[in-house]
Amino acid sequence: MEPTKESVITIVDDNPTNLKVLFKFLNESGFKVLVAKNAISAIEKVKQTLPDLILLDVMMPGIDGFETCSRLKAEEATKDIPVIFMTGLSEPVDKLKGLELGAVDYITKPFHQEEVLARIKLHIRFKRLTETLQSQNQLLKLEIASRTAVESSLQRLTDELEERVEKRTAQLTKAVEDLQQAQVKLLQREEKLRYDAFHDTLTNLPNRAWFINRLKFLIELNARESDYLYAVLFLDLDRFKVVNDSLGHLVGDELLKSVSIRLQASLDEMATVARFGGDEFVILLEDIKDVCDATAVASRIKRELRLPFYLKDYELFVAGSIGIALGKIEYEKPEEVLRDADVAMYRAKHNGRARYEVFDPEMQELVMARLHLENDLRRAIATTLDPNLESEFCLHYQPIVSLRGGEILGFEALVRWNHPSRGCVSPGQFIPVAEETGLINELGWWILREGCRQMKSWLKLGGNVPLRMNVNLSPVQLLQVDIVEGIQEIIQETALPPNCLKLEITESCVLDISSEEAQVLKQLKSLGMQLCIDDFGTGYSSLSRLYEFPIDTLKIDMSFVRRIGQENGGEEIIQTIINLANSLGMSTVGEGIDTTQKLNKLEELGCDLGQGFLFSKPVDSLKATALLSDYNRRTLGEERGGAKF
Ligand code: C2E
Ligand code: MG
Ligand code: MG
Repeated sequence: MEPTKESVITIVDDNPTNLKVLFKFLNESGFKVLVAKNAISAIEKVKQTLPDLILLDVMMPGIDGFETCSRLKAEEATKDIPVIFMTGLSEPVDKLKGLELGAVDYITKPFHQEEVLARIKLHIRFKRLTETLQSQNQLLKLEIASRTAVESSLQRLTDELEERVEKRTAQLTKAVEDLQQAQVKLLQREEKLRYDAFHDTLTNLPNRAWFINRLKFLIELNARESDYLYAVLFLDLDRFKVVNDSLGHLVGDELLKSVSIRLQASLDEMATVARFGGDEFVILLEDIKDVCDATAVASRIKRELRLPFYLKDYELFVAGSIGIALGKIEYEKPEEVLRDADVAMYRAKHNGRARYEVFDPEMQELVMARLHLENDLRRAIATTLDPNLESEFCLHYQPIVSLRGGEILGFEALVRWNHPSRGCVSPGQFIPVAEETGLINELGWWILREGCRQMKSWLKLGGNVPLRMNVNLSPVQLLQVDIVEGIQEIIQETALPPNCLKLEITESCVLDISSEEAQVLKQLKSLGMQLCIDDFGTGYSSLSRLYEFPIDTLKIDMSFVRRIGQENGGEEIIQTIINLANSLGMSTVGEGIDTTQKLNKLEELGCDLGQGFLFSKPVDSLKATALLSDYNRRTLGEERGGAKF
């Protein structure tokens, strides 16, 4: 930029002539000119006007030009104003000192105007340029500063962002890992659930659901290809409950596992064994030729099961009843095949266990009949519980007679069922059903109560003979946890002296008896009741076991008594039983005495008591009451011999 009138120059000189000349010349050259005659006024004016350039005389009275210059340079406001010293040609001036103090140039008096003007213009231009540069510099610095600030905040943001990205990435990675793990677990759990849904947890064998699925497939296959044949074998272990109840569930479980292993080992790859729960195993035979393939497998299983199982110091024997259903019949649903195999299995059990039966439709009819009987029995037992209903059951009483004196010493209570449509149903028909279904427990309580109540009323009739009521107790009843308390309660309720009650249990029941049940017998005995083994001689009971139980009486089975008088009659056996009973301090009862010959023989063999149609059939309570008074009147009044039949 060209220095113009806007440019201000301050001239400091003590010489008025110099001032005037310079003032005029510079003014004419377009500058605004200010003057000062000494240093003090110069400093004052310069501070006020801040000129673009100062022409400063070096030699001045008082404060000289150098001092003035250094004062101006010391001030912030004036330090950048270019100072040109003026010196006379003759003046001894240390020009270097002036430059060191900050002056930019020297001009020498007398002035050469063109030169002065050129120097002034040059320095003003310098100053302007310097100012421009400085301001640009300043702007640049500001720009740099602001950019640096922006950059550093950008860097910080970037760093923060990176940190967040890193953190987030780590979180995401972790989340993904967790998710993957959870997914793996979920898959494993699903896998396990799927496995569990189709397998039995104890044996790991396929379960009912698996079996039904597979069977469904085979039924469809059979429907498409008529010569395709399959078979279902329903296996139920006989007396498994005895193992469970006597040795505990752990041994029971181990036995089931061992059975499952043995079954698997004995079958080929076309056969699958499944467990339906409890002691029920079901075997599916695929693609067989005929029924012989199925019966061969059943025989093999039977054989395998016959070998003992060794578990926890026990040697266990199990047998199984097997029902076979063949895919020949046009089945539509798996349940139908299983139902028929089940029916055949029940038949096998019914026919003596440890065997197999192949289903035929007639079996179904038997099952239906049994089902009806079971339903009717359930309903009938309800009648014993409701005092407003007439009970469909009643007790008949068969006298038990002293073979020596001929007097009635007691009765056996025998239950009768008056079925509303079928009439009298014999206990031989319904007691087994009641036992299998557990209904015998309810019915048993009623029989006991009724028997005790009846005996109590007979005791009231008087008479010197101590009477006793024999009540049959099923092995199922013996398993009830509250059996002792229940009987005791009935004794108390009916006020019957405990020794007037004799409980009959069958020999086969004693054979199977566990230590808990033996304990039950001991408790009953200690409460004063009598115990009798019914049907003795048929159960092949180990005689040594008799010592273990507090038995009072052995009832000789009817089958031996029946053979009296026949060739090879059972007398020897009867004699052995009587001798055994005598040696153990037990009394004996002969059952099924229907002829005087049998009576006489039994008396001769030393049998104490007798029971049979010869004395009386089982009769209702009215007839029994009449019998009692009639009998005892006769026998007690007469001689012992005359009382005999
Ligand atoms: P049991 O306890 O051995 O009863 C004797 C059975 O032999 C009775 O058959 C009786 O009527 C029959 N009987 C008695 N004397 C003679 C005779 O001289 N000749 C012939 N041929 N039979 C005779 P019942 O009443 O049909 O009972 C059969 C079985 O049913 C009983 O055998 C017993 O095991 C069971 N039972 C009967 N009543 C009850 C009961 O109240 N509770 C339980 N748990 N079982 C019972
Ligand atoms: Mg009996
Ligand atoms: Mg009997």
